[in-house]
Amino acid sequence: MDNSCLFCRIVAGEIPATVVHRTETTLAFRDIDPKAPTHVLVIPVEHHADVVALATANPSAAADVLATAAAVAEAEGLTGDGFRVIFNTGAHGGQEVFHVHAHVVGGAPLGPMLA
Ligand code: IMP
Repeated sequence: MDNSCLFCRIVAGEIPATVVHRTETTLAFRDIDPKAPTHVLVIPVEHHADVVALATANPSAAADVLATAAAVAEAEGLTGDGFRVIFNTGAHGGQEVFHVHAHVVGGAPLGPMLA
């Protein structure tokens, strides 16, 4: 755990979050500023800065994040009409929180890109 990391502190229960799914290796919770009717963040419990670091250091945990994203999409009723899974990565990718997270967004047509 990185004590300076917001999402590590959510994993530790130090900062509240609306958790929708939890596994041994992942946590899914609602985004505090949703950009769509459904907007859930899926993170590995283990701290990695971004998806490149995660996939390099722990490919199995990367697979777990995708499996949890799929389970969340199913539970939120998104699989029929479709949805989007996004890993913002680095400065040009618009990443603001440097604990890797997948945005699972849907519930309405999203257009060509998520702003
Ligand atoms: P990024 O730009 O891909 O790093 O996205 C970070 C996301 O974290 C943004 O969509 C924020 O709204 C979200 N966020 C920031 N703080 C919290 C929080 O405390 N709980 C839930 N979501 C958060």
